[in-house]
Formats: sequence, C-alpha cells, structure tokens
Amino acid sequence: MYSSLQGRYREHIISNNFTENILLKPVKMKDISQSEEGWAKRNGAKPSGPSSKFYSVPTKVPVPKREKSAQTKGQNTSSNHPMNLKQSNPVTEKTKQHLLKADQSTSTVPDNVELDKQLCTLWKKKDTEVVVSVIPSQHRGNNFVIHHSELRSLRPHQWLTGEIIESILHHTANVLNLGSTVYVMNHYTTGVILFGNREEIQRQSLSKVNFDKYHAVVSFVNIGNVHWKFLYINAADSCVYLVDPARSSTEQQDSDLAAKRFRDYFKMRRTCHNKTDWVDLKLKGGVIQHPVQRDGSSCGVIVILMAKAVMNAYPDKPVMAFQTDTAEIAKKRETLAKEVLEASVFDMDNNCALCAMAKPPLPGPSITDWIQCDDCGRWFHAQCLQMDDAELAHVSKEYWKCSLCI
Ligand SMILES: [Zn+2]
Ligand SMILES: [Zn+2]
Repeated sequence: MYSSLQGRYREHIISNNFTENILLKPVKMKDISQSEEGWAKRNGAKPSGPSSKFYSVPTKVPVPKREKSAQTKGQNTSSNHPMNLKQSNPVTEKTKQHLLKADQSTSTVPDNVELDKQLCTLWKKKDTEVVVSVIPSQHRGNNFVIHHSELRSLRPHQWLTGEIIESILHHTANVLNLGSTVYVMNHYTTGVILFGNREEIQRQSLSKVNFDKYHAVVSFVNIGNVHWKFLYINAADSCVYLVDPARSSTEQQDSDLAAKRFRDYFKMRRTCHNKTDWVDLKLKGGVIQHPVQRDGSSCGVIVILMAKAVMNAYPDKPVMAFQTDTAEIAKKRETLAKEVLEASVFDMDNNCALCAMAKPPLPGPSITDWIQCDDCGRWFHAQCLQMDDAELAHVSKEYWKCSLCI
C-alpha cells in the first residue's frame, strides 16, 4: 500500500514495463482562459475576462437567410428557442458587427451594385474550395453546396460543372413552384439510364420516387466529358426529347434511343423493385426547335436556358427563342452566376465556409476551434483548414485572411 499517489503511479509504471522517463516528461498545461471559455460555451454562459476569437463562435441554430430576415422583420430576433443562445453567447465585437451587417443585408433586397461587385471579386480570384452559395434542392432537406471554383465555371468560355447546372434547375423548379409536377432528375442517373450497363442501371432504381406523382422530367447528360445535352420527358404526350445544344442531324434518332432506354428503365424498376409508375407510358422520341450553340464551351449555359424555357412554359409546349451569340451568352452567364449567389441560403455566421456545416465532418472533440477571416468575416473550422493548435494560436495574433481573401 502506498501513502502517496506518486507511489502508486510508480508501481503502475514498473508493472507495465513503461519507461520511468514518462514521470519526468513535463505535462503541457492547457491555456486556462481557453478551457474556461470551452466550458462557458458548453454551458452557454459568458466567460470571465477577455475572450479569444476562436472560442467566440456563435452557437445559435443555423437558419436559412430568408427565415432569418422574416424573424428580423417581426422584431423577434431573440426568439424563445432553447438553442438560441445568441444573447448569452460570448460574442466578440467583430462578430457582433458582422451579425449586425448580415442582418441588415438580409432584411433588404440585395443591391444589384453590391452583387456586381461580389461577383467581380469572386471571378477574379483563383479557384478555391470556399463555399459561395448553398441552394435548396427540389427535395426538402437536400442542398447543393456551390464552391467558388464551381461558380467560376460560369465565366465566359468555361465549361459548366454539373453541380452548377443542376442547382440552377432545382432553383428554377422551386421558384416556379413546379416541385410536384416537374421532376429534376440527377444528371448522373440520367447518364446511367442512357448509356450505362444493366448492373449500373439497376443501382439507379430511384426506389423512393413515384413518377406517377409527376407530369414531366427535366434533366441533362454528360457526353464524353466534353459536352452537355438537355433531356426532357413529357408524360402527357409520352415524348422523350434528347436535345443537343450544338447543331445535330441525329436528334430524332438520339431521342428515339433515349425513349427506348427510359422504357426499359421503367420496366427494370417493375421487375426488380415492384414499381409500376410510368411503366405503361409508351415513350417515343421527339424533337424541339431550338437555337444552336456557336462556341465550344457554352453547351451547359444553353442546357440551362432550354430547361428554363421548358419550365417557364409548362404545361404548354416550350418556345426556345434565346440568343446564342458570344455577347448574349456572356450576359447570360453573368445573370446565372448572380442567380446562384442570390438564391443562396448559406448561413455564413453559423457554418464553416469549407464544409458548409456547423460541426466539422471529421471526428474530433465536441468543442470545435473556429477562426474568422478578418477580411470577409467567413468562419472556418480549424479542423477543415488543417490548422493545429500552434498554428491557430500563431495566426490569432495576426490579421488572418482566408484563401479567398489572400
Ligand atoms: Zn468545416
Ligand atoms: Zn475571407
């Protein structure tokens, strides 16, 4: 029996064959103010003394900007929600100013000049993975996270990413209230249905979707990693349109083949998943008159314009009458980029601008280190920036800029 803890510790070391050196190893003391703040954050109480900027993370529940502005209008910013700790939260002066700024900007209609400036800056900077917009999908709870590099694919002469095209299609369906009539099909699924083999198609069963609820499908498909084509299925006239933005003499044949692939797809769903929706549709190929692509990069822009024409006219037959000359396409690209920025529901005060989440995606401690960009006010998980404690402590003493602001 030992009278001291030290004696028991020594016995433990000897019995486990540990080196005695570990007794001599200095224990790294945790910064007291930081741990105090950590507890404070957990309890929602204000810590004594000055707070460091890493622990001053807002802990209120993330809410989409539109809801937030509605709350602001109703003079109810300090709601009774138990998780809304904004008032008791240790918020730095900078955060306060930032929150104030965000509230002001969401309560007024976004200024076009401001949007122009924002877009100009984002297009000028080299590609980063910073989140610039989060767009709600047609299906509740799903969002498209648009990164800076993806937004930049809307610049003149760039080839659009699938994520950008798809997010704009979903946004258009939402704005036009077509959520329960037009199904925006994932472009990867469409690609598999049109060009995949049997096994690949079986994996894209869309078992939770009931096509009988919808009257049309709008989608697009990647051709050889260099080109986008538009796909439209109208259940009312049982027509499948596979539309090539570039001049093509095989549109009827392409659409006929697409119709056959979709007929087979719905039969597969009946055989493998017992789903009978749209299985009796006698789908056939169709052709729509449309303007033709005049450059080598704007197929994605034209696909969006085609989808918008279809959704705007729905349920009438679409009239595709947009211009495709260089100047007009450049203007359209800018308009679409602004649409992506304006449609955003990203809450940059409560979510990390790299993973778009409140909590970091990687496993780690329940209390997360955050750092705010001194230039743009975006917040980042230290974990997502792969910053260790030492680096974090170092940059805290300086004016820190995120990758978008460097
Ligand atoms: Zn993160
Ligand atoms: Zn920044």
